[in-house]
Amino acid sequence: SLDELKKCTNNFSERNEIGSGGYGKVYRGMLSSGQVVAIKRAQQGSMQGGQEFKTEIELLSRVHHRNLVGLFGFCFESGEQLLIYEFMPNGTLRESLSGKSGIHLDWRRRLRIALGSARGLTYLHELADPPIIHRDVKSTNILLDENLTAKVADFGLSKLVSDSQKGHVSTQVKGTLGYLDPEYYMTKQLTEKSDVYSFGVVMLELITSRQPIEKGKYIVREVRTAMNTNDDDGLCGLQDRIDSSIRDSGYLVGFSRFLDLALRCVEESASDRPTMSEVVKIIENILQNDG
Ligand code: ADP
Repeated sequence: SLDELKKCTNNFSERNEIGSGGYGKVYRGMLSSGQVVAIKRAQQGSMQGGQEFKTEIELLSRVHHRNLVGLFGFCFESGEQLLIYEFMPNGTLRESLSGKSGIHLDWRRRLRIALGSARGLTYLHELADPPIIHRDVKSTNILLDENLTAKVADFGLSKLVSDSQKGHVSTQVKGTLGYLDPEYYMTKQLTEKSDVYSFGVVMLELITSRQPIEKGKYIVREVRTAMNTNDDDGLCGLQDRIDSSIRDSGYLVGFSRFLDLALRCVEESASDRPTMSEVVKIIENILQNDG
C-alpha cells in the first residue's frame, strides 16, 4: 500500500544502500509484513514522469514469473520516484562471475542460471500481455535468489529512462555497450531478437567468466577467433578462455552445444538467431543429457 511505501521511504540511509546503477541508488528495505525489498530510488530526472510512465510501471508490476524479479509497487510523490522490488540476496550474476560474491558457480549451476534467465525472457516475449522486449539484457541485470535461481531484473524499464543516461548509447538506441545487437544499432528496428543477441553475450560470459569488453576487446569477436584455432580436445581453441573452475569441475558434457548455441544467438543477422523459446528447449536438453 502507499502508506507502507511511504514508511519505507523514511528508511533510507547509507547503511541500507546496496548498490547504484543507471537510474540511481538501490536500498534494502522492509515492508511491515516483514518482507525484505530492494528499493530503487531514481535520481532526479533520470526517469520520465507523467501518466504514460505510471501506466507502463503498472503494466510491469502485473508481470509475474519465477525467473523475473517481481516489481511489488512504486511510489511517485514530491519529486521522488521509487520502485519496490523483490530482494535478491545473492546479488548479480556479474558479481558471482567476477568472484566478488564468494559464490562458486560450477558448470551445471551455470547451465541452470542460463536456463532460468532464458525462461524469464521467453515469458516476456511470448506470454506477457502485451509482449515486452527487455532491451537491456546483461549479467548485471540477472540476479540470484537465496537458492541461486536466476531472475531477470529491470525488464521494460530502459525505454522509460531519459536519454543520455550512464551506459546508454545514443538518444534512440538503448542498451549497454558490449551487449548491443549490431543489427538493431544499424537499423534502429527493435525486435525480440535484440534480447537474444544480448543473451548470447551473457552465455559467453558464463563460459569464460569474462566481461563482454575487456581491455578494449569484445568477447564475441575473441571467442569467434578462438573457434578458428584447430585443436583436438573439443574445446574449440578455447582452452585459455574457458573459466578454470568449469574446466576443473569436469562438467564439460554439453559444452560444445552450449557454445554453439551462444554463437547462434550472437549472429550478426537477427534472422539467423534462435528465439528465446528455442534457446530454452536446447538448454533443457543439454541439462537432461548431462544427467
Ligand atoms: P543498473 O542500472 O546498472 O542495472 P541497478 O540500478 O538495477 O543497476 O542496480 C544496482 C545494484 O543494486 C545492482 O548491481 C545490485 O547489486 C543491486 N540490486 C538491484 N536490484 C536488486 C534486487 N532486487 N535485490 C538485490 N540487489 C539489487
